[in-house]
Amino acid sequence: MKILVVLLACSTALPAQTNTYVLKAARLFDSTSGQMATPGMVVVSNGVIQSVGGQNAPAGATLIDLGDATLLPGFIDAHTHLSDEFSPDYSGKTLLSQQRPISERAIRATANARKTVMAGFTTVRDVGSADFIDVGLRNSINAGYVPGPRMLVAVHALGSTGGHCDDSAGFRFGLFNRETGPEDGVINSPEQARYAVRFNIKYGADVIKTCASGGVLSPTDEVDVPQLSQAELDALVDEAHTLHRKTAAHSHGAESSKRAIRAGIDSIEHGTFLDDEAMRMMHDRGTFLVPTLTTRVGLAESKFPPLVQDKATRAVKQQDVMVKRALALGVKIALGTDAAVYPHGDNALEFAFMVADGMTPAQSLTLLGLQDKIGALKAGMLADVVAVPGNPLENIKVTQSVIFVMKDGIILRNDRATR
Ligand SMILES: [Zn+2]
Repeated sequence: MKILVVLLACSTALPAQTNTYVLKAARLFDSTSGQMATPGMVVVSNGVIQSVGGQNAPAGATLIDLGDATLLPGFIDAHTHLSDEFSPDYSGKTLLSQQRPISERAIRATANARKTVMAGFTTVRDVGSADFIDVGLRNSINAGYVPGPRMLVAVHALGSTGGHCDDSAGFRFGLFNRETGPEDGVINSPEQARYAVRFNIKYGADVIKTCASGGVLSPTDEVDVPQLSQAELDALVDEAHTLHRKTAAHSHGAESSKRAIRAGIDSIEHGTFLDDEAMRMMHDRGTFLVPTLTTRVGLAESKFPPLVQDKATRAVKQQDVMVKRALALGVKIALGTDAAVYPHGDNALEFAFMVADGMTPAQSLTLLGLQDKIGALKAGMLADVVAVPGNPLENIKVTQSVIFVMKDGIILRNDRATR
């Protein structure tokens, strides 16, 4: 049955469903108020939510009764890498990334997209790809050729030579016949930062992602060192904002984060070693934190070289401490998972990790700049609706067992369909 639904979704090239649906369930989660409504009813027509609540179904509508379940707005993951995927074998994966044709990686990316949307994540911000796989995937999903979430894409993330976003780091000099440059996401001056932002937008970027600090998985850097200067980050954010793109900074360190925040960055990704000063700056400026707590799942299963293992151990140990402190200081937090560091489709694990750190799992919306279209079940919003069994306010882990997915009014998954 599931396979049938997937096949149908694949062959549906229409951007929106013209049918009218009435979705019913025992409960409906109102993401604006954080309250549960009973019973839950949503009327969807032409891909848009027509009404929420009430008792009367419009004549001619298709009724879908999901029983003891909760209707929620489609989930949003603000930090994915759909063109990459998890492997516990670090060195083997590094080799494979150089061996696989781009076409093979693109086809595999379609499977990652399908797993993600079937898990209820109807929108993702995909923050870093290579060979424009993210752009092609986004366009193919939008055209209805493959099922997947609505994607905001970054093209290549922008960082410095030898930094976290330099794909040639760890390989011998000369192997690729040239040094990486702005067109590969490697920048070393404010001028190159502006050029790289313009280049990425020219070729399809919805959002600009930068690597302000070192990273856990990169082979030649320390995890928390700043990797771009204040002037480089200033130029990068200014150019992106001038061209109406939001910006996200991969940043584990406190100093790297302060530079990015001063530059006007819209979100700090990971934020592992943020100090109080950085968190206060974020609070005052409304900068989002995207903690990516689910990374620990993949990191725990992986075999790393000693340098990477040491960075992973240090980072994971700090995550919960940092999130609890950020909550106490009132930093705005959005849900993002770094899918590809752990297996695609397990994104909902993040809800439970966030709740364990003392958070309510309601937000991750305004960061995407789409708050007028998605993130709530309200008349006029795009019809992105998911259902989970039971009540997620009583057991957040039910978000890991999605039974129904509708995106843009098209049903991609209905495990309770009777036929
Ligand atoms: Zn990432």
